[in-house]
Amino acid sequence: VGTDPRPPGNDSPGIPVDASDEQIVAAAASVRAGRVLTPPSWKDGARVAVCITLDVDNEFPRLNGNARPVSLSWGEYGATTGLPRILRTLARHRVPGTFFIPGATTVLHPGVVDEVLGSGAHEIGLHGWSHEYLPALRDAEQERELLLRSIDRLTELAGTKPAGFRAPFWEFGRHTLDLLREADLRYDSSLMAMDQPYEIAAGGRPTGMIELPVHWALDDGPYFMSDVGDPDVPFEVFRREFDLAYDEGTIFVLTLHPMISGLRSRAAALDRLLEHIRSRPGVWCASMSDVVDHLSPERSDSRIGGAPR
Ligand SMILES: [Zn+2]
Repeated sequence: VGTDPRPPGNDSPGIPVDASDEQIVAAAASVRAGRVLTPPSWKDGARVAVCITLDVDNEFPRLNGNARPVSLSWGEYGATTGLPRILRTLARHRVPGTFFIPGATTVLHPGVVDEVLGSGAHEIGLHGWSHEYLPALRDAEQERELLLRSIDRLTELAGTKPAGFRAPFWEFGRHTLDLLREADLRYDSSLMAMDQPYEIAAGGRPTGMIELPVHWALDDGPYFMSDVGDPDVPFEVFRREFDLAYDEGTIFVLTLHPMISGLRSRAAALDRLLEHIRSRPGVWCASMSDVVDHLSPERSDSRIGGAPR
């Protein structure tokens, strides 16, 4: 980063429409899909892995923008009502979840990590400090500071260092991948270049950083943020995505928010989805770090997150 010739700032600069071939390749190269890491079969011979992930945003990022009481109360619903209801739903089906928690959420809800860890075989992951939009940060130094602050906070509350990161708003700054490697994290779950696990490549080289990819269509946010439609519509998309991941023998990664899917009718739709998932043979419901432990066996001899090979 110290010898980076590009101008200061944290966003990734675009290129002119008449850029040269070399400029096009260089501009796209910083974070790319590398090797596919899906193993021949999952734990105990399972044919599909299922990761139910929860982004516990609550009052953030609204608190950093327009801290209006009604808007904040919608976020607070995630803590008072949404999270407990989702935890009960996961417990009913004995499904472990991966909970990405902005560090600052624990200032307002100091018990949130205990609440999650106390109710199942769940994992806690990183989700920024206050759900900051990484490309808008001042520079790599500010991003590093917030990342380390979030790691310290969650480590203190969970008792172990989080293994995974999910970028707030699913957006990277141009230093994010370097910072995740520097912090020695095992995996990221913010990118969308495939719908199965892969290794992130940078500048044409493997990075050792594992990606467990997401997709906007597998996130409750786009369906419900500006729409109060029938919960069965998105959950029907989620079910079909699971069925096809099952047929393909890969992974199904779902992203939900307690403040959104913790609503009664939506939690009921989640309940039906989990019932469907549990009714199929050969399904492995796992936390993301358990999935990372199980990725293609040739990885086991090289430390994940380490130097490129
Ligand atoms: Zn979020």
